[in-house]
Amino acid sequence: MSAPDYEQYTCNLCGKDSAVVPDFHREGGACQHCGANVRFRALMLALSHHLYGKSIPLSDFSPDQNIKAMGLSDAPHYASKLAALFDYTNFFYHTKPFLDICNIETMDVGSYDLLITSDVYEHVPPPRHIAFVNSYHLLKPGGLLLLTVPYTLLAKTAEHFPHLYQFGFVRDEQGMLLVNRRRDQTIEVYDELTWHGGEGSTLELRVFAEADLLQILADAGFKDITIWREDVPEYGILQSQQGGSFVISAVKDGALEPAPALALAPITQHDPYCENIYPENAKVDHFLIHSPVRISGERSERAIARWHKQQSSGEARVVSKLWHYIKQKLRVIKMKLKS
Ligand SMILES: [Zn+2]
Repeated sequence: MSAPDYEQYTCNLCGKDSAVVPDFHREGGACQHCGANVRFRALMLALSHHLYGKSIPLSDFSPDQNIKAMGLSDAPHYASKLAALFDYTNFFYHTKPFLDICNIETMDVGSYDLLITSDVYEHVPPPRHIAFVNSYHLLKPGGLLLLTVPYTLLAKTAEHFPHLYQFGFVRDEQGMLLVNRRRDQTIEVYDELTWHGGEGSTLELRVFAEADLLQILADAGFKDITIWREDVPEYGILQSQQGGSFVISAVKDGALEPAPALALAPITQHDPYCENIYPENAKVDHFLIHSPVRISGERSERAIARWHKQQSSGEARVVSKLWHYIKQKLRVIKMKLKS
């Protein structure tokens, strides 16, 4: 990717002028002041257009505590600024405040004006549309979804583990393996996993195709679905050569409910978009797609044995904790009876 033919841009997160760097990948092009990358700047620019109909830096946004907003593990670069502007909560899967987007039972549905989910939905377990349907439910009518995921312009999504059900990880001398028991009880072992943020961080479960994303969003009940693929050099957003993975915004159409097949999906776990994914073992040639490899033989058998061992020791821990709890309760009851 060639460097842009201008020397400075204004960072729309911190409002300062920054020198142009040669790396303008979506994760690159960091502002020399606040460190915001191209993806973060593109997200906030799309938000600026939604709120004000034009490109303005985040530093010029008007504070409005009536705007209820949420992020899913949003980057601190813009999360702290949004928290100062709006009634904003940044939720996490691994720490407080908790939110699993695939299970929103405890959430205040239909109450958010804005939901930002940036590079999260490639990590949610299949079927992948549940996260989109739940995003729709969390928003108010007219509320905005701001979405990024790494995606291609290929015909279909590469779903790495379409039968993921009960799974865990086993490390051996050669690396980390995924062991999965499918619903049909078949056990499969995968090598060459892709982690975002380094091994032990977040496992990539799929690489979306743009067409798949657009169909799921439309079926979930979103309208005004916009792909922000244009370059905005004055804000250091140079992404047209990326060939995908642009910011997508979509508005909840209050008049529409998710398609009936989708409304039922969270209960049945059925994937209504299975036609949108490449068949298992399909060879897909794209720089973003590094498919894991299903292994068999001795290494796989050793991994399965180790996984079973991990599971049974995990179960033993649960049983012993439960027994400890019951003994304590019994002791309390005995003391009450005595007194
Ligand atoms: Zn900046």
